[in-house]
Amino acid sequence: MTAEAYPVLEEPKTFFLAPLSKPAPGSAGKTGTWRTHKPVVNLEKCTGCLLCWLYCPENTVIKLENGKVAIDYEYCKGCGICATSCPFDAIEMVPEV
Ligand code: SF4
Ligand code: SF4
Repeated sequence: MTAEAYPVLEEPKTFFLAPLSKPAPGSAGKTGTWRTHKPVVNLEKCTGCLLCWLYCPENTVIKLENGKVAIDYEYCKGCGICATSCPFDAIEMVPEV
């Protein structure tokens, strides 16, 4: 088979670096009251590198217009991955109970 026989895939016109889905009621759903710790962002330390946004498995890190981040506590599960992934120690996991 010659190289010409293989189908040529079209290049995607745009590429989005983003999680594929948003949490929604009925999937994992709103977190409710069972979370034991919540991430609190120190905006003085945050550089806007977005690693926490990239690694959050729930897609609950919100990009702000000022380039920094906030947390959607309605859906955040308190896993702490954002805090662990932050290279600037800008996220603290605070006990809620
Ligand atoms: S604690 Fe977990 S679910 Fe909540 S914002 Fe951080 S990574 Fe996302
Ligand atoms: S990983 Fe840390 S420094 Fe980077 S955007 Fe998140 S909180 Fe800010």
